[in-house]
Amino acid sequence: MSRALVIGGSLGGLFAAHLLRRSGWHAVVFERNEDDLTGRGVGLGTHPQLVTVLRRTGIAFDTTMGIKVTKVVCLDRAGKIILEQPSARTMSAWSRLYRALRSALPAQDYRLGKKLLQIEQDADRVTAIFADGTSERGDLLVGADGLRSTVREQFLPQTQPVYAGYVAWRAVLDEARLPNEARDIFELYTFCLPEGEQLLGYPVPGADGNTVCGHRRYNIVWYRPADPLALARMCTDASGQLHAAGIAPSLIRSEVIAAVKADAQALLAPPLAEIFRRSEPFFQPIFDLESPASAFGRVALIGDAAFVVRPHVGAGATKAAIDATILAECLTRVGEEAAGEDVTSEDVAGALARFASVQLPFGRDIVALSRQQGAYLSAQLKPLAQRRGGELRRDIEALLHAHGSRSDQIGDIVAARGLEAYF
Ligand SMILES: Cc1cc2nc3c(=O)[nH]c(=O)nc-3n(C[C@H](O)[C@H](O)[C@H](O)COP(=O)(O)OP(=O)(O)OC[C@H]3O[C@@H](n4cnc5c(N)ncnc54)[C@H](O)[C@@H]3O)c2cc1C
Repeated sequence: MSRALVIGGSLGGLFAAHLLRRSGWHAVVFERNEDDLTGRGVGLGTHPQLVTVLRRTGIAFDTTMGIKVTKVVCLDRAGKIILEQPSARTMSAWSRLYRALRSALPAQDYRLGKKLLQIEQDADRVTAIFADGTSERGDLLVGADGLRSTVREQFLPQTQPVYAGYVAWRAVLDEARLPNEARDIFELYTFCLPEGEQLLGYPVPGADGNTVCGHRRYNIVWYRPADPLALARMCTDASGQLHAAGIAPSLIRSEVIAAVKADAQALLAPPLAEIFRRSEPFFQPIFDLESPASAFGRVALIGDAAFVVRPHVGAGATKAAIDATILAECLTRVGEEAAGEDVTSEDVAGALARFASVQLPFGRDIVALSRQQGAYLSAQLKPLAQRRGGELRRDIEALLHAHGSRSDQIGDIVAARGLEAYF
């Protein structure tokens, strides 16, 4: 059986491994972290395509997968609802999906502590060389190693993430610790829009994946502009070391946390400010990334390694699932026909070229959509006189509409690119 080496054991790598196995490949995942990732991650948006792909991997998307929100609202600074619209979204959690996908893969085919350093290719095979001194050979290598992809760095060193000019502060709070004044908004998809900023909050499964009332969590994403100098200060730890690629939550200085909590009290609707105060917030700088190519001989890039979608469309996981689907479909014949024999470089390269011809336009479209949704926030670093249209002011109704009643923008891109047959 042909062997696929999947680099990166997050959602993209897991989707690829499951779908390639269905396509006749023996896929093995290599993740650099030493420990299981289950305890990580916060809320995650879902889309119909994600549900379809999960089902295809044998995972039921039932009521334990997420929490349905039926209304999207906008609160003013005083906490009054100033606009509301119907919504039809299911909010899940990164760890809920990770746990389901990981446990459905044989343990020996998900290897932790395997940090890829380099890739070598010859006519017969591709070889992954790891930091622990070992190497693995396969017929295909899938780079699902995220924003700072080692795989991409080797083939596209000029393609680097570009900072979008703002960060996302993230916070989660157990339902049991929710302040009383927040009970009414818990099950809503809630916006609060301080000048130049954007916050949204929604319920997600509990840390253990529990969706039962009383055991869920509340998730906040608060977008705040930060110029590169301010970002560097925020990314500097207590010892003075700068973590330019993003600082681990545990290293964020207490002054930075205290300052954002004080801003929350000053700028946010009281229930949201109180949730934020009770939580242990952390931030992620927002980046754009668009790869000009995604197939290099026997090597393919998928998920965040290829394209990074700003979180406004809530589609990072869905895009990774879609990439993995296209990849596995293009490789199906190669995997099945080669049973017992080596697959040729031409077979794999041909299948990957077909994959890239479908994935690249789709990736560009979804990145463009996410940039458009974040344009107002990025523009906050521009002088006022240079801002145009939506960069100057927001149409709150359209914003709620995009996030609420009209929640299948990804479906529109899938249809426009003729990809419905995959889902
Ligand atoms: C721990 C974690 C928590 C997350 N939580 C959320 C969340 O709560 N909400 C949300 O919307 N999105 C979250 N994301 C992002 C989300 O998973 C992605 O946007 C989406 O699923 C597509 O991701 P990906 O698998 O392509 O890349 P990523 O999710 O970035 O995963 C890349 C994986 O590759 C591994 N890796 C990197 N370099 C190497 C290397 N050299 N060798 C081996 N392995 C390597 C990383 O450790 C990581 O596990 C999270 C990602 C991670 C890694």
